[in-house]
Amino acid sequence: MEKRSIVSIQQPEYLRLGGMTIAQALPNQEIEQADPFLLLHHAGPVMLKPEFANFYVGPHPHRGFEPITFLFQGGVRHKDSLGNDSSIQAPGVQWITASRGIIHSEQSSDAFKENGGNFELIQLWVNLPAAQKMIPPAYQKAETEELPLIEFNNPNAGKLYLVSGEQQGKKGPINSLTGIRSYMGFFEANETLDLNLNPDSTTLVYVLEGHITIGDQEVNNKELAILDQKGSQLNLESLKHSRVLILEGNPLEEEVVSWGPYVMNTQREIMEAMRDYNMGKMGFLAD
Ligand code: MN
Repeated sequence: MEKRSIVSIQQPEYLRLGGMTIAQALPNQEIEQADPFLLLHHAGPVMLKPEFANFYVGPHPHRGFEPITFLFQGGVRHKDSLGNDSSIQAPGVQWITASRGIIHSEQSSDAFKENGGNFELIQLWVNLPAAQKMIPPAYQKAETEELPLIEFNNPNAGKLYLVSGEQQGKKGPINSLTGIRSYMGFFEANETLDLNLNPDSTTLVYVLEGHITIGDQEVNNKELAILDQKGSQLNLESLKHSRVLILEGNPLEEEVVSWGPYVMNTQREIMEAMRDYNMGKMGFLAD
């Protein structure tokens, strides 16, 4: 089976959000997206004392895509205009299908505020095709015990959790409308892994912390590897303890027009999104 190799390694830019420093690997000055993946924010890792463990991003809208939180360390509470109010512990996932509109907030879970500890998450924006941008919004979550484990070639103490899609005959608990396959990896040193990939898919490997190799290329802390689109297999080796997010999706090949929290196909649709939010058509969230 033909193996994928790395075509580029993206370095992050840094910004401040919700009282934290964020590494932004996508988009950057070189690339607007890695279709269908639009934005990748990495918060942490940071050790927070209880009195400072109060991360908070207040109510805000989204339309036209899926904002997803992959929680690697700590605890997060999500509230939204559909009436959801749920907390997860790491490793866990909150997967929002914003589609025609949702308002949500994110903050430290009560348990995390009380106890503090290590905190780290990835916020990922996955685009939706035009045909799914205006369907009803939805929210899914997955907790640690729901996430199946993918097996390494040389079983050690590391773990790779399957979040969405199928691999090794297992199925992730999150149902992705666009067939996204996603994994959260907590590798120990010298673990090797083979994953089957779909033909022509966009495949990304983001290293939160650690040191891995794909083929003869190395990927380090806060680097995003974009793989070529040929071949049906990903081979990965960890050189030390590493936390990794692996993503695979089919390119939409549609026009992308984005403004703030909205990602649509035309400027007109962006104007409609702003109007609909102001008219309350994306719902309400008092928080
Ligand atoms: Mn958001």
